[in-house]
Amino acid sequence: MITEQYLKTKEQVEAAKANSPYGQDVCLIAVSKTHPIPDLMEAYNAGARDFGENKVQELTEKIPQMPDDIRWHMIGHLQRNKVKYIVGKVFLIHSVDSLRLAEEIDKESKKAGIISDILIQVNISHEATKFGTDKEEAIKLIQDAAKLSNLRIKGLMTIAPYTENAEENRAYFSALKNLSIDIEALNIDNISMDFLSMGMSGDFIVAIEEGANLVRVGTNIFGARDYSK
Ligand SMILES: *Cc1c(COP(=O)(O)O)cnc(C)c1O
Repeated sequence: MITEQYLKTKEQVEAAKANSPYGQDVCLIAVSKTHPIPDLMEAYNAGARDFGENKVQELTEKIPQMPDDIRWHMIGHLQRNKVKYIVGKVFLIHSVDSLRLAEEIDKESKKAGIISDILIQVNISHEATKFGTDKEEAIKLIQDAAKLSNLRIKGLMTIAPYTENAEENRAYFSALKNLSIDIEALNIDNISMDFLSMGMSGDFIVAIEEGANLVRVGTNIFGARDYSK
């Protein structure tokens, strides 16, 4: 099942790329939170090399149990006191939404002698329940965090509202793409807008059409999540 679903999602990603005016390459992140290692291995054997998790403990438990050519993505809200457990272990942290968190990642990266790549999470839809900065805060945060030497800002991430109709999120995706273009034009040292992380199972096709190059897909690959366990 997972093999077929992964391959089908991969095909949908390729098809959606053809409808994007930006001609971007797109990386499909298999969001494996709550799912057991054998399920992750099935996706791996189908070709998945990028995996996303949203909890530090689950992430650090899974990493040593999986092949080491995987790129791990931290996509969930990150508490400062947990940064030390993931620095050096993940390819990209998608969910940085405050200067204090950026400073903590910088500090731990310095200790480890590495530079960490991060995205700034923007609450582009202004949903009260979501983490993330608003547009104006995002620019200020990027200007401040750009001064941190063991951190590299590589782009933006957003979580769009849950909807049955992906078209409802098109304007949010397009707004985030435009924000990334505006930030790129500021030419701030030490930052790039290489990555735009947006789109989940319900809306990744629309997100790609609006310029996403990292899509985070869980349910469509692994099936529904069971939080009772
Ligand atoms: C769980 C999660 C996803 C995947 O959601 P699906 O709807 O299952 O594809 C994507 N992004 C974030 C930040 C998540 O927490």
